[in-house]
Parts: sequence; C-alpha cells; structure tokens
Amino acid sequence: MSRTSLSVVSDSVTARAPSKVNLHLGVGPRRDDGYHDLVTVFQALSLHDDIRVARANEMSVTVRGEGAASVPADDSNLAVRAALALADWADRSGKVAIDIDKTIPVAGGMAGGSADAAGALVALAALWKLDIGRDDLATIAAGLGSDVPFALHGNTALGTGRGERLMQVLSRGEFHWVLALARDGLSTPAVYHELDRLRDSRSGECADDAARDLLRRPDELMQALASGDPHAVAPLLHNDLQPAALSLQPTLRRTLRAGIDAGALGGIVSGSGPTCAFLCADETGAVNVAAELSGAGVARSVRTASGPAAGTRVLGADLRH
Ligand code: ATP
Repeated sequence: MSRTSLSVVSDSVTARAPSKVNLHLGVGPRRDDGYHDLVTVFQALSLHDDIRVARANEMSVTVRGEGAASVPADDSNLAVRAALALADWADRSGKVAIDIDKTIPVAGGMAGGSADAAGALVALAALWKLDIGRDDLATIAAGLGSDVPFALHGNTALGTGRGERLMQVLSRGEFHWVLALARDGLSTPAVYHELDRLRDSRSGECADDAARDLLRRPDELMQALASGDPHAVAPLLHNDLQPAALSLQPTLRRTLRAGIDAGALGGIVSGSGPTCAFLCADETGAVNVAAELSGAGVARSVRTASGPAAGTRVLGADLRH
C-alpha cells in the first residue's frame, strides 16, 4: 500500500481488487471445529471489482454490476465488515459511503466478497492516511475471511492453514484463462458439507496417511508455474472440492467437457465453484475457446482473464485542495 504525502484532502479513494482461481486446492479432513485445513495455490486474475470509499455522515454501501442484486447492502456485506474492522483498528467512527462495482461473479468460487473486503481495507487506509503496514492489514484481513489476505497479496501464492497463511510462488509470464460463469451460485459451506458427506460415504476414508496426502505441497505444479509453460501447468490443476461441486451442480460436467473440446489445455472448477476456469495456450487460444464456449450454451456468460494479477491497489483519489 502506498503511503500518500499529499497536502490535500481526498474526498474519495478507489481501489481495485482481483479475483482468484485455485490452481491446486487440497482439502484436509473436517476438523473438530468443523473447518478444514487447506493447501492451495492461488492465482490472482485480471477479472476485478472496484471499491470506492468516500467521506460521509453515516456508513452506507451500494453495489452495482455483476450479480449486484444478490449482494447484501447491510452490515453483513464483507466490505462493510472490513471498513468497521479498520475503523476499530484506527479508533475512528467508520462513517463512509462504500460503492462497489462488481465484475467478479457472486458466489462463483472466485472470492468476490473477499476482494471487496480487501478493496475496502486498502481504499480506506489511503482515504484516512493511516500509518498501517501490510502485516497489520493482512492480520485484519485474515480476521474477515480466509481468502481476504490473498486478495490483498495478489500474484501467485501458496496458502496454508485455512488459506490465510501465504507464501509467494514464483510464476513466470502470463497465463490466459477462460471463465465460464454459471447461472446459479454455490454456497461455499454447502460445498464443504457435500465433500464431507461424499468422504464419509466412502468407508475407511481419511486415515492419517490419506489425510497427510491431501495436504501435500504441490511441488510439481510450483515448478511448472516457475517454467511459465501452460502446457506443463494444465495437467497439474487439481481441486478436491470439484467432486462436491459437480455433485451439487451436475451440469458443470458438460461445461468442463465443452471447454476441453473447444481447445483449452485444462479445465477446473474454481474453488467451491460453480465458475469453471480453463487454462489456454495463449491469448488467441483463450479468445477462441471463449467464443466456442459462448456458442455451446453451457454457461450464463463467458469471460477471458489473465493472471497473475496484482494485489489490491489504489487506483486513484478524488482530491479537494
Ligand atoms: P469464496 O470463493 O471466497 O468462497 P465466492 O466467490 O464463492 O466465495 P462470494 O462472491 O464471495 O462467493 O459471495 C459469497 C456470499 O457472500 C454471497 O452469497 C453474499 O451473500 C455474501 N457477500 C457478502 N458481502 C459480499 C460482497 N461484497 N460481494 C459478494 N458477496 C458478498
């Protein structure tokens, strides 16, 4: 985050926050507290939300763009929770107007809510000229949700714990993706619940050895990312949540097949789904796959995106002299 030294007052600040795809998502057995340990490789994508914060007499949030109608416009909005958490840290009142312009699909497994939380943190820290470092911001972010630290961080990272403990992963070049957005969202808790159900229904599942395997670091994938070769990365895409997402939305099988038939190198359900992400050889390949997928009628809409994208950053401020 940049620390501004302008001798003017900003009335509003806009931050841009990336979406994510999990190139690898290993999910450990359900813990006693109901959560799951993860080992995941995130890549931030160019598909983003813009979050504008402005001084106001009271807290408010408005949402427009992709899926806006299904995003809460009250205190349960993750951007509002982020603003309140930062206000608490800074001992401020938290009277801000938050305006979210969404492009990231809602409940799409691309961490859109987390992006909005990260955007609110970064934009407000700039608006209030807070002397807060990345580490403190990341701690507040982790308290808001396990994907929020990565939305701040961006690029490509290995996530452990519940995904909030991050380590940068070397990734060379640019990767080109096609995203197939589904008609209906999937609730993340429902997908984890389905995974537990599927695992429980298989006898002898999740012995200690098996559990360790689930949480093994994907070294081969990390080497492939360092090589920058999408042909090497594609066969290593892996998502433990995919069978659960497919079980809840069986039509996603058709979507995944259609992307491969259209020429993608690999396809995967993104996080808890239902967005399907297809890795392509290059930008032209992605445009061709997107065109074919659109024609196949297997998705509500189809987008191209590239990664790795930068972490959440300030786009600009409206200044009052
Ligand atoms: P993840 O991949 O992190 O599990 P997701 O991308 O599948 O999440 P989100 O778009 O983050 O899902 O939304 C999940 C739910 O969170 C939505 O159904 C919505 O009710 C709620 N929510 C709260 N704040 C927001 C926000 N700012 N944007 C989107 N959804 C929000």
